[in-house]
Amino acid sequence: MPLRYILLDIEGTVSPIPFVHKVLFPYSRRRLKDFVQSHAGDPTVQSSLSATQATALAEDQQVLTADETIDRLLHWIDTDRKHPALKALQGLIWREGYESGEFTSDIYADVYPVLAAWKERGLQLGIYSSGSVQAQLLLFKYTDRGDMTPLFSHHFDTAMGGKREAGAYNRILAQIGLAASDVLFLSDIAAELEAAAAVGIETIQLVRPGTSAAPGQRTAADLDAVDKLILSQPC
Ligand SMILES: [Mg+2]
Repeated sequence: MPLRYILLDIEGTVSPIPFVHKVLFPYSRRRLKDFVQSHAGDPTVQSSLSATQATALAEDQQVLTADETIDRLLHWIDTDRKHPALKALQGLIWREGYESGEFTSDIYADVYPVLAAWKERGLQLGIYSSGSVQAQLLLFKYTDRGDMTPLFSHHFDTAMGGKREAGAYNRILAQIGLAASDVLFLSDIAAELEAAAAVGIETIQLVRPGTSAAPGQRTAADLDAVDKLILSQPC
């Protein structure tokens, strides 16, 4: 296999799952009301509030007041609903948090050196995550290892389709202009790996602390272990 491109998931692959749930989501929850009120003139804030109200009207025939709109958004954070309006607001709130130094993103220690070595070797690197492209760029810009965004040639999110749908991987292949056999996909979730494998992409499951090895998957504990698997593979 002439490996040319490595596509990576974020949560559970390059970043510990608790970072999003213990740092990012609580921060957006804490800041949401103040942020919306203090950025009332921001067009993204306005369109996100309108979209939230439109969804409430369509789904529950409810006309939300300003306070109720914020409550609905908080409820969506609590129930992990991936509504575009919430994602857009969270993107703005997280940008403020990163830029003000409120937190840096948590990336596993093996990630930067291995990705830098792969890029040095001529491999292209891309990210495919259910977090928005905007959120991905922030996450990799503000790491405790500095700005990692220059490592990646592409960022993909659910605009490509769901991560458990084979079609999404075909759309990504079309965008990067490579054959499935040129690409390796790394994720912690077996259903995502199976969807990628269904279109012919090679896969390895990352089994970080807290993840269980899925039956039938090639597995690696970290990116150093992935590197050893790649090097041992006949080209
Ligand atoms: Mg994951």
